[in-house]
Amino acid sequence: MKYSIKGWVKNSFCDWDAKISSVVFLPGCNMMCPFCQNWQLVKEHRIIEDIDWDMIKSYLADNKDFIDGLVITGGEPFISDFLLEMIKEVKQMSIAVKVDTNGTFPHKLKYLIDNSLIDAVAMDIKNAFEPEIYSRTCGVPVDDRMLGNILSSAKILIGSSIDYEFRTTLVRTLHTLENIKRVAMELNGAKKYVLQQYRKIGVRDFDGGKPFSREEMEKFRDEVSQFFNQCCIRYYDRDT
Ligand code: SF4
Repeated sequence: MKYSIKGWVKNSFCDWDAKISSVVFLPGCNMMCPFCQNWQLVKEHRIIEDIDWDMIKSYLADNKDFIDGLVITGGEPFISDFLLEMIKEVKQMSIAVKVDTNGTFPHKLKYLIDNSLIDAVAMDIKNAFEPEIYSRTCGVPVDDRMLGNILSSAKILIGSSIDYEFRTTLVRTLHTLENIKRVAMELNGAKKYVLQQYRKIGVRDFDGGKPFSREEMEKFRDEVSQFFNQCCIRYYDRDT
């Protein structure tokens, strides 16, 4: 089966906490978040050339002593029908795997966890679990069934022993403290929740040039941290 890989970062120090990882980007997504940083992978992936998987595997094999694991991101990796085979190949090399997901494929996620095929997951929680709010935030219609799938994925992770984090990208025009509190109550007891600052990088300016400040994000964090073992913010300097 031919694998379609549209991006590759050989060495990353920021895609897996406290680990040095290699990162591959898979095409396509079932959401269309207006603030997506990887929108080309979502909307224009057909015009991006594939990167040779064998070359990536060789690099991983040659650098196993240096690289702690492979991060598979996108797009939404679970929509790629070769994901399972790809992960099996990496695990056969005794290399750890982390998958980034929007949580809409709970059965696939559970299969990977039950069969010890993944070591870590970062799952996006777009906003409060309400169809109208979630739809507005992720850019596609979200009904109760899809929301149920996202919640199922969250519960699977909370009930698992693998390394995971939930994360929400905070956009001033989409998020309120009230809605983040509702998210926190749904995820009560989770290991880790990360509030990320929205960064405008070639995407529509949703925050009117006013991203949440560090102080505002710290207030969000302080209001919900009681629900998690660990709750933190990822804040980016707008000027860098
Ligand atoms: S789920 Fe992720 S990859 Fe898909 S559109 Fe949203 S931010 Fe982009």
